[in-house]
Amino acid sequence: MTALAPGSTIGILGGGQLGRMLAMAAARLGLKCHVYSDQPGPAFDVAARSTVGAFEDAPRIAEFARGVDVITYEFENVPLAAAAAAQEWAPVRPGPKALAAAQDRLEEKRFISSLGVPVAPFAAVDRAEDLEPALRAVGPEAILKARRLGYDGKGQVAVRSASDLPAAFAALGRVPSVLEGFVGFEYEISVLAVRSLAGETRFYDVPLNTHRGGILDTSTVPSPLSAGHVLRAQDIARAIAVALDYVGVLAVEMFYVGVKAPGPLIVNEIAPRVHNSGHWTLDACTVSQFENHIRAVAGWPLGPTERHADAVMENLIGRDVDAWPKLAAEPGAALHLYGKGDPRPGRKMGHVTRLAPKAPGSV
Ligand code: AMP
Repeated sequence: MTALAPGSTIGILGGGQLGRMLAMAAARLGLKCHVYSDQPGPAFDVAARSTVGAFEDAPRIAEFARGVDVITYEFENVPLAAAAAAQEWAPVRPGPKALAAAQDRLEEKRFISSLGVPVAPFAAVDRAEDLEPALRAVGPEAILKARRLGYDGKGQVAVRSASDLPAAFAALGRVPSVLEGFVGFEYEISVLAVRSLAGETRFYDVPLNTHRGGILDTSTVPSPLSAGHVLRAQDIARAIAVALDYVGVLAVEMFYVGVKAPGPLIVNEIAPRVHNSGHWTLDACTVSQFENHIRAVAGWPLGPTERHADAVMENLIGRDVDAWPKLAAEPGAALHLYGKGDPRPGRKMGHVTRLAPKAPGSV
């Protein structure tokens, strides 16, 4: 198991801000990146090479794979066929098992429950006739989610009673879906784990996450989670990573429900990649989630994951980014802009992390 030498090239599928921050972290280690995406994006500005091509274009993907030493991805909807075509030529890390588990919300829930880890009650909805029995199984309040992400940006709809069901299914385009019971959580956290090629797993501190309009708004470390529950959350993430033969950063989003059954922690979803709730690691840790992902997929030893400061990361969504001159002048604020042009509503344009001295004994 040899580490890729500096000067080697990492292929990244996907050209967004996560790819951009991965490429910047790789550059710090003297590694080059070749980004492949279906359209130019923020990663193209900072990569040694970039290619625009369809993810369904297996011959093109194979050609890309022939020119790199290892392949990773920054979004989980890479078609499995593309990952398989790439794998003929270069190792794909994390491997296809992780991609398959994260691409389909139903398979994801089945897989996580099979590990004995609590998830929200769920039921498959393939046809309109499945809706009522599904609501009886998970109800009375629920969320209907398309099994596969990225369907016209209409991924999920709240359901408060049986009469909402037909409209909710229609809003999703009647695609195969999963109905999930609504979890009355106290707060949301995520575990950011990194697993090396040799099988060592390390964890960043657990952030508390808040959302605005369904999009991550802030991530704060430390979270209010007790030390014992942090260990429980990390054990869950480790079990998932081991079961997937995982290499790289894995994010596991969880609901903290306190003493309510089947608490205290319920897994919402996994992301087989670096994650927005780990952006604070760029400024509050010696080695960020991005660098540790690169280290892992390149077969390097993992870097430290300890944080040296408390941090609050705030996303700049849409026109939030207009505040950049003020943020650039704010003492102690670390501003990260992704170089995107049009600040459309809901578009992640950048983030800002504010640091404070680490509270003694905090987790
Ligand atoms: P997701 O796309 O599944 O990560 O959902 C986005 C956000 O919707 C989550 O971070 C939660 O705030 C909320 N959410 C998703 N599923 C549930 C659920 N079963 N119960 C309560 N809130 C949920």
